[in-house]
Amino acid sequence: MNKQLREQIVACAKKNGADLVGFASADRFTDGVIQQIFPGVKTVIGIAFRVLRGSYRGVEEGTTYYQYTTTGVETIEESLMPGALLRLCACLEDAGYVGVPQRRNQLLRPEEKTPNPEMLHTKWYAAGAKEPQMDFTAAAVACGLGEKGMSGTLLTDDFGPFQRYAFVLTDAEIEPSEIVPPHLCDHCGECVKACPGRALDAKGQLDAIRCAVYYRGASMKTNPYMPPEAYADFEDRIAIMTGEAEFDYEKAKEIMGETYFYPPIKHGYVSSICGRACDRACYVHLEEKGLLNKKFVHPFRIRPVWELPIIAEEKK
Ligand code: SF4
Ligand code: SF4
Repeated sequence: MNKQLREQIVACAKKNGADLVGFASADRFTDGVIQQIFPGVKTVIGIAFRVLRGSYRGVEEGTTYYQYTTTGVETIEESLMPGALLRLCACLEDAGYVGVPQRRNQLLRPEEKTPNPEMLHTKWYAAGAKEPQMDFTAAAVACGLGEKGMSGTLLTDDFGPFQRYAFVLTDAEIEPSEIVPPHLCDHCGECVKACPGRALDAKGQLDAIRCAVYYRGASMKTNPYMPPEAYADFEDRIAIMTGEAEFDYEKAKEIMGETYFYPPIKHGYVSSICGRACDRACYVHLEEKGLLNKKFVHPFRIRPVWELPIIAEEKK
């Protein structure tokens, strides 16, 4: 195994903004996807970037919403992460190996009805089997970056649920990291309780369509921008606003078509009006239990969770 190359990769990733680096041998991936993407793959390198606590402050307080999506999603995915991946692959090339960068293409979906809540629904594209895509959370676990929490979110010792991640496939054989035994998620259910649209069931299973609808602010309880005449054309408008509505994929798209109360971000990103309440609740829980390595002078949650009244008027 190439110890010197391993150290060079860790140093390069960190120099280019990554906070966590892990390695997995290709045989940890049994679904055949990475071998389809790069038949010569021997190692998967995982790199994770923290989402700043400060990026969540506006959505936590219910004051500013643009900041989380620009600095916590878009800048990491579209600027920091691609730069780090390119430098990492260049480092591998300098050593005589190939590096194949893998970051999420946010708009490519495995199937028609598997939405990405973070993106404008009019731009989702169902690639199906034409474009094999890695399971990013499973890959992060395989690389030893952290564990998968009940909500499906990656949890790490340093940042809890607050990070985003990408990968490099390489033909270099590099010593793998230890897989982290699950020890953070205690199935407390705080993530489930926090979602304003009941998108997580009692077992933490995500209904991605509900998440897509409520991520962008269909609940008036957590959307300070929703006008009283919102959804006036929907018979169940109150149920939509309170997060109780039932709907199928087609109706979800209709609701999303009426859910523009705040400008989207560049690159097709939707502003998160739920403010990733599930992840914030999880972070608060892990911080209260003293499980996170990164300590702060003040706790993240400094006041009770707020909720707005439902004020619904018919369109004039
Ligand atoms: S909030 Fe609780 S149940 Fe949900 S992922 Fe975090 S630790 Fe697990
Ligand atoms: S809180 Fe937001 S991101 Fe989390 S499950 Fe609910 S809608 Fe989705």
